[in-house]
Amino acid sequence: MEKLHFLLIPLMSQSHIIPLTDFAKLLAKRGVTVSIITTPSNADRYNDSVKIPAAKSNLKIQLITVEFPCQQAGLPHGCENMDSLASMDLVIDFFQASDMLREPLEKIVSQLDPKPSCIVDTSAFSWTQDIATKLHIPRYVFQTVSCFTNVISHILKETKAADTDSGTFLIPRIPDNIELRKGQLMENTVKHSDKWVGIMDRIKKAHDLARGNLINSFEELEPWYVNEYKKLRRAVWCVGPVSLCNRETDEKRNRGNRFSSDQDCLPWLDTMKPRSVIYACFGSLCQISPSQLKEIGLGLEASNSPFIWVIRGINFSSQVEKWLEEDGLEERVKGRALIVRGWAPQLEILSHPSIRGFMTHCGWNSALEAVSAGVPMITFPMFAEQFFNEKFIVKVLKIGVRVGVEVGVNSWQEEKKGVMVKREQVKNAIDCLMGDEGEEMSKRAQKLAEMAKKAGEEGGSSSFNISLLIQDVIDATCEVKM
Ligand code: UDP
Repeated sequence: MEKLHFLLIPLMSQSHIIPLTDFAKLLAKRGVTVSIITTPSNADRYNDSVKIPAAKSNLKIQLITVEFPCQQAGLPHGCENMDSLASMDLVIDFFQASDMLREPLEKIVSQLDPKPSCIVDTSAFSWTQDIATKLHIPRYVFQTVSCFTNVISHILKETKAADTDSGTFLIPRIPDNIELRKGQLMENTVKHSDKWVGIMDRIKKAHDLARGNLINSFEELEPWYVNEYKKLRRAVWCVGPVSLCNRETDEKRNRGNRFSSDQDCLPWLDTMKPRSVIYACFGSLCQISPSQLKEIGLGLEASNSPFIWVIRGINFSSQVEKWLEEDGLEERVKGRALIVRGWAPQLEILSHPSIRGFMTHCGWNSALEAVSAGVPMITFPMFAEQFFNEKFIVKVLKIGVRVGVEVGVNSWQEEKKGVMVKREQVKNAIDCLMGDEGEEMSKRAQKLAEMAKKAGEEGGSSSFNISLLIQDVIDATCEVKM
């Protein structure tokens, strides 16, 4: 085991780096050596989440930095993580910068000692497979989406079920009754251009050549979809929820960005009644307009429930700050609410006994973290596969209530389309979660949390799948030697 060396290459985005770093810890706990590729400013952010547990538990994890060519791709200096993009329109430039990492990384990988036994990336680069093939290293893809999303995306492509003039369409060939709208599909909520389609195409082709797929999910959560996905790919191993590797308080705190101590919600949460607080947070990428933020804030206030509301730094414009001051919302809710500017320790908050529900944009990491903590959700999807996740949470798992977003939106277009969700919808969804229906959802969520925990324990499905992966890497190494 000591001889095995896993090389992990995430897309420089919170929703890829955070779970892959968790996965690194799970691997290192098995005695494997793990190297994670990152960039200088990301290394600065993630140092604590790697070094602290590594030092404490004697894990062999290291970060290897490579310069990120932001300026060469037309991005501002220091823009090394997708959460630093001023607009989602810059995503293409960001992927082009990521493309340019090929050459320096090939050099790094070929010189690594010990040579990597495998490469694991998050399927966001077109060149990882080329390097793996050239250097005779097996490559695996770590997927940050569920099997449900994978299977539904495949069915939609195959059946063209979305090619209809009616407002909604039913997804065929699945056991659940799932209806979607065109405006909720991934391709209609992310920027479309030939360049983007070309990049995605190359990434997909490279994905198809990977030796195996690791999914941040667990088999018991979506058994039918896991089995179906296994029919579509050559090897599929659910290895999650990887966030459950963070058991100690400081591990739960040190994920992703740092936050200032005056934004620490934990002491405040300690003073609140058990299962009374709504946590509202919309991930690391969503750009929410000032008018939508106002509706969210006023809806949270109208609910009369205690709440923590996280407003991402980029959304915290001077207009929003001015509104908060002039409207007096923060003053009015003082004592029963906290407004966090920037980043919150989500994992720590979700596992706090005072939390009753989570208003989320339905990013897969956030959804799975809520499942793992046994917390039901209020779903507020915006773009990409978030509407699929909403369907999964509300219709399949039955642990969520929709706030009522009908059509996805990207970037700042929201102002053009008006406000997606009104304050009454926010209030109604919270009232529902606080009532009898919410109570039933809580019970189901808690059962799922127990199942998630078991999956990760020795003998559990995800733990077993990690063993299968390690064995496959050993087998692949022997095949290369022969
Ligand atoms: N996150 C966090 N604090 C925040 C915002 C996000 O810890 O204030 C973490 C969250 O726990 C999750 C990740 O950032 O692990 C966001 O990933 P997700 O897939 O939910 O959404 P994305 O950021 O890609 O939209």
